[in-house]
Amino acid sequence: MISVSDALNTLLDLVAPLEVETVPLRAAAGRVLAEPVSANRDQPPFAASAMDGYAMKAAEVERDAMFKVIGESAAGHGFQGRVGPGQAVRIFTGAPVPDGADFVVIQEDTSVTGSLLTITDHPGPGHNIRAKGGDFQIGTTVDAPRVLTPADIALLAAMNIAEVPVRRKPTVALISTGDELVMPGESPGPDQIIASNTFGLDAMLASAGAESRILPIARDTESSLRMALDLAQNADLIVTIGGASVGDHDLVAGVTEGLGMSRAFYKVAMRPGKPLMAGTLGRSAMVGLPGNPVSAMVCGHVFLLPMLRVMQGLPAMDHQPSTANLAHELPANGPRTHYMRARLSGGDLHVFDDQDSARLTLLSEANALAIRPPHDPSRSKGEPLTYIVI
Ligand code: AMP
Ligand code: MG
Repeated sequence: MISVSDALNTLLDLVAPLEVETVPLRAAAGRVLAEPVSANRDQPPFAASAMDGYAMKAAEVERDAMFKVIGESAAGHGFQGRVGPGQAVRIFTGAPVPDGADFVVIQEDTSVTGSLLTITDHPGPGHNIRAKGGDFQIGTTVDAPRVLTPADIALLAAMNIAEVPVRRKPTVALISTGDELVMPGESPGPDQIIASNTFGLDAMLASAGAESRILPIARDTESSLRMALDLAQNADLIVTIGGASVGDHDLVAGVTEGLGMSRAFYKVAMRPGKPLMAGTLGRSAMVGLPGNPVSAMVCGHVFLLPMLRVMQGLPAMDHQPSTANLAHELPANGPRTHYMRARLSGGDLHVFDDQDSARLTLLSEANALAIRPPHDPSRSKGEPLTYIVI
């Protein structure tokens, strides 16, 4: 058996960052920025008013001071003249502060009769002016790589970056194997169950930036599996599910070998999800996952998501696992790394008693996987335990 980290390193060696492509700004959300981009304008591009009020010289601002209002500066329509001594310009939020003015008195602190303005309240110390380039300046960069959030998209838009260099989305082909499986929505025979893994993994991988496809279920015959693999040909990553151990009906190893895959078969020291296969098939990386629904999903978190991150130019690990205090005691772990379904609530980690790797209800209830290293001793209530969010 090999360790989880050795298995992960082997899988990561099968993939590399994909090409860079340029997409319109709106299509860039959730994509990985491939190269730093920089602003070619200042924001704001001029000193701008932060409030509705009157612009004047700061040196003249005091309670009961009077001014002649000589014009108006609105957003998109600045005042063209200059503010002289004893003068003020009506101004609105986002409007350019006119030349000669360096203070905006908010309208609540003034009264106006005709064109005569009086400051009626003591204005605070703030000038209510946003400096030119106060948010960002020409040359301010947005660093790469990063997953572009909605806030990043707003920033790129403000920088006038309409075309964004991102990594191509990894294409993934998902193949379920087994005579017992039918697709959701079909009518299963008495000995059949519904293929769940491909759908869970499809959702997981799509949310991590992949373009994934669910191929027709491969039956437990060599020809059926070969046909499915043929359909998967151009994917960056092919993932088979089930059929990966050494049972009589477990065909994935033999068939992929017949197709020229230099294959490695691993027994990984982990629970759930022991058998794992990996190699290169044509131009695709291929990973064979165990069939048990929870095992497949846990392997998706532990192995496939880091592979997708590398393909998108990100570090394999997005962050260190977090720790939380155990809500109860836990018995010692065995010789394999155990990813235990758990629920993080109120800052405490509740690890489920039942860890049956076929029970998806418990996976759906979990929002974390507590990680127990091999031979982790028994833990008492309140001790910190590492976990990943799922
Ligand atoms: P296998 O590795 O093919 O022996 O499968 C192990 C267990 O996982 C068996 O109980 C299968 O019925 C089940 N299984 C395999 N593939 C899937 C799938 N795509 N969806 C749900 N269960 C599956
Ligand atoms: Mg099977």
